[in-house]
Amino acid sequence: MLDRENQGGGAAARGLADPGLEALVRAIPKAELHVHLEGSIVPELALSLAKRRNVALPGAERGVEGLREAYRFATFKDFLRVYVALSNTLQQAEDFADAVYGIAQRLARQQVRWVEMTFTPMTHVVQGVSVDAMLAGLADGRGRAREELGVEFAWVFDVVRSLPEQGEQTLEIALRARDQGVVAIGIGGPEGPQWSVAPLASTFARARAEGLKSVPHAGEQHGPPSLRETLDLLAPDRIGHGVRCMEDRELTAEIVDRGIPLEVCPSSNVALGVTPRLADHPLPQLLAAGVQLSLASDDPPLFGTTLVDEYLRCAATFDYGRDEILALARAAVEHSFMPEARKRELQAEQERVARGA
Ligand SMILES: [Zn+2]
Repeated sequence: MLDRENQGGGAAARGLADPGLEALVRAIPKAELHVHLEGSIVPELALSLAKRRNVALPGAERGVEGLREAYRFATFKDFLRVYVALSNTLQQAEDFADAVYGIAQRLARQQVRWVEMTFTPMTHVVQGVSVDAMLAGLADGRGRAREELGVEFAWVFDVVRSLPEQGEQTLEIALRARDQGVVAIGIGGPEGPQWSVAPLASTFARARAEGLKSVPHAGEQHGPPSLRETLDLLAPDRIGHGVRCMEDRELTAEIVDRGIPLEVCPSSNVALGVTPRLADHPLPQLLAAGVQLSLASDDPPLFGTTLVDEYLRCAATFDYGRDEILALARAAVEHSFMPEARKRELQAEQERVARGA
């Protein structure tokens, strides 16, 4: 079985100038700030969950290989079909717990110590899943991940942009689960001019008043107008993607001035056609413009990536060395919502590993 997290391949195969860079990328302790629970379920895990609940998955009649092929979607519609099918495998507490733990195992192998994972509660609630069972399962998986694997989960509960009527209930569930690590609310799903975030502004204001952070997706499928209203209406603490700010100089300057970090997911952007090739990705321009950002994996098995791969691919494509890699890894910790003392501790550990690797 191909295991991407432990896959070698060598620095030469990856086009890295510094042969020690791959070891550094693998060894450095990391934070991951933009990754979806439902989109992190690898085919093997999906099959076992689907079998348990008798859920049909695209391609699954041909086993793991068939499912793996379905993951290599051609269009956004196909992507959503797989995503929805994966979501449907999560029905009872143990399903959520096993999904979280299975994902945490893969994160642990990449030395991810802290993950702010996006989860869409209402996708499951409207399918009849009990809120109590869902939250109990997430808490169980999170507890086991911390104790057994040293991976700490914080949650971003998000609303589907095209379903703003689910905003208030999402916030209620998020507030109920605050002591289980919910740190923020977000907005995900399809982005386009027909889906303004205006109907969600009051929900986000209440979330912020309650002490939750605001981390909407914006500036991915839709460009500057989407970012404009996100900045005006949602007071974002970070922005998911945001890479299309580069189409508007003033918008970019405002993001820099307000110190709003972006969660940049290069392989996702290529897979969903935001940018044609990684070499065309605006990552270097964003950094040159002074935008704060971290690298993230979004829906890793669906985009044929892992967090380690994101670092390695960017290093190879943009000719990054140890300093740039360490700066990106440090930034992810800095932009996270972990307690300050914990940030300093993890950054010190990053420095130690970087010196020793
Ligand atoms: Zn995302």
